[in-house]
Amino acid sequence: MNRKKIVVLGTGGTIAGTAARATDNLGYTPAQRGVGELLAAIPDLAQFPFELLSEQVAQIDSKDMDFSIWQRLLQRCAHWLERDDVQGLVLTHGTDTLEETAYFLQAVLAPRKPVVLTCAMRPATSIGADGPQNLLDALTVAAYPDARGVVLVCAATIHSAREVQKVHTWRLDAFSSGDAGALGHVVRGTLNMSRNWPQDPPALSGDAIRTLANLPSWPRVEIVMSHAGANGAMVDALVSPEVAQRFGAAPVRGLVVAATGNGSVHHELEAALLRAQACGVRVVRATRCCNGRVLPVADQVIPDSKGLSAVKARVALMLELVAQPQVVG
Ligand code: ASP
Repeated sequence: MNRKKIVVLGTGGTIAGTAARATDNLGYTPAQRGVGELLAAIPDLAQFPFELLSEQVAQIDSKDMDFSIWQRLLQRCAHWLERDDVQGLVLTHGTDTLEETAYFLQAVLAPRKPVVLTCAMRPATSIGADGPQNLLDALTVAAYPDARGVVLVCAATIHSAREVQKVHTWRLDAFSSGDAGALGHVVRGTLNMSRNWPQDPPALSGDAIRTLANLPSWPRVEIVMSHAGANGAMVDALVSPEVAQRFGAAPVRGLVVAATGNGSVHHELEAALLRAQACGVRVVRATRCCNGRVLPVADQVIPDSKGLSAVKARVALMLELVAQPQVVG
């Protein structure tokens, strides 16, 4: 039989975590079980209408996510998505940086097939493990004929990569799409959609994706936060070539400020950011509020993040800078 395939790529996280006791939902070690074992924990999967393939791309706690793993993921996603016999992909991932990986993949691939990230808030050994149901729901979404784009499925809720944020430290329903709302829900094995699938314009060409996947280093973009008592010392240190050299770091090419409220920044920090901007460092203003976006105001010298959270604005800026020659300040 020549059934279409869904490919499940494992990267680790709590969904693959184990604890010594089934009642321990916190004192566990993430990234212990292989992706094949995660699939084996779902009952009756033999009846699933697609052939399931699996591949272990990484095995990490996603707090440690780095560019080399993103590059490998990008290569593997691009490889499988190109194949006509592949319906879609599912990625198992830790919750901590899931929104960054999801945004990165959507920004680069903007796939016309579904790429469904899923996760768990409790380890695989828990008496109340949420991973198997989340993984089954993710497979259900990936199997859906119209599904497209990079999305997250957690606690029966489908979120788009652009809006989703982890908003809770321990609840099973730990993600929110804020004001935009969820894309839909998985209810008893069927999809109940409230919004359209992500319809971003075609992203990079195959060649550009290959270049990105093999880039030896990425532009350095850092995040700073505005807060009571903030000052410019951190930004001055970040943009100083002497400091970068002393620590063997690449010079900073971009800064994202997680600003207060609608993009306001402590005046001392703002002065330092403007100095950095004058030296050729790209500066972007996001908000540290978890809901709402920075609304542009007239004569804004530091541009806003176009609705992206600080961590996603950092990814967007890195991708922009990859395409631009380095400006030396
Ligand atoms: N630290 C874990 C991770 O992100 C947390 C989780 O998966 O829930 O890999």
